[in-house]
Amino acid sequence: MVQWVEPKIFKIAETRIDREGLTGFLKTLGADEWMEKQPWFRAASPTEVEDSSALIEVAGRACYKSFGVGLNPNITKIREDSKAYIENVLAKGDGSIFEHGQVSWAFVDVSRIFTHELVRHRAGVAISQESLRYVRPKELRMTMVPGSELSNLKNLDEITRALEAAEEEYLRLTEEHIRPEMKFDEKKAWTSALRRFLPDGMATNIVWSANHRTLRWVLEMRTAPGAEAEMRYVFDLVGRILKRDYPTLYGDFETRPHEDGVGAQWVPRIRSKV
Ligand SMILES: Cc1cc2nc3c(=O)[nH]c(=O)nc-3n(C[C@H](O)[C@H](O)[C@H](O)COP(=O)(O)OP(=O)(O)OC[C@H]3O[C@@H](n4cnc5c(N)ncnc54)[C@H](O)[C@@H]3O)c2cc1C
Repeated sequence: MVQWVEPKIFKIAETRIDREGLTGFLKTLGADEWMEKQPWFRAASPTEVEDSSALIEVAGRACYKSFGVGLNPNITKIREDSKAYIENVLAKGDGSIFEHGQVSWAFVDVSRIFTHELVRHRAGVAISQESLRYVRPKELRMTMVPGSELSNLKNLDEITRALEAAEEEYLRLTEEHIRPEMKFDEKKAWTSALRRFLPDGMATNIVWSANHRTLRWVLEMRTAPGAEAEMRYVFDLVGRILKRDYPTLYGDFETRPHEDGVGAQWVPRIRSKV
């Protein structure tokens, strides 16, 4: 039985600062006064602040010792406010400090089309994708992007019937060639051979980690009007989580709804590609 499933996204991990170590580092630099004013230092609980933003700001300020006037005799004034500091970094294009913080995602029930496009982004990522060489599908599950062309089709039944015929044939072939008593390597070889008949639109899973420099770029590229509907759908959801959880790093992004209603375009107000 062919099932149509929607893509789902989960933010599964993020960078955390080590408060003890960071405090030691800043004291060693003589930045105690600046440190004591920071939200991460004053917060009762570590979850109250954006750790990635704090880390990125500390890394950036460490370059010029710009934690206060007097630490570096060449500096006569500093931007006290974190938001103003990050905005200035973005405006200058000093993107490398954004690589210090990372977010991990699980994209579930996305298509192989989606994963193929996602892995084209090479810089600043880590990727672990469900292996269809090892994992043998027990049924055909197909990704359906809400609001996309397919989801609006009146005769989706016809497509479903064609897919069910393909599914039936696939399951018949797997039964014929893959037997329980076979060695795992033999099963793997046949699983891999028979996946060649499976469609690109089938649902799969991928764990994807990316740093904030990469995330800003991929968010912009993959929500652009020319981007594929599933990319736009998923990255619109990613953008919402990024803006909610890291307002200092993504506060400059503005959204413009797409004409077809699938997601929105995320446009950086300050600078594209830092
Ligand atoms: C709307 C859309 C349509 C597309 N259509 C096609 C298509 O028809 N065919 C196709 O093949 N691809 C297509 N792509 C994929 C596209 O060509 C890129 O491969 C993909 O978007 C990855 O982006 P990136 O090159 O910026 O790499 P990322 O890995 O995201 O890298 C980010 C940036 O780091 C720098 N960088 C990364 N690696 C290197 C390197 N090796 N050397 C120097 N600088 C580097 C570059 O400045 C790069 O922009 C499309 C992408 C989009 C968004």
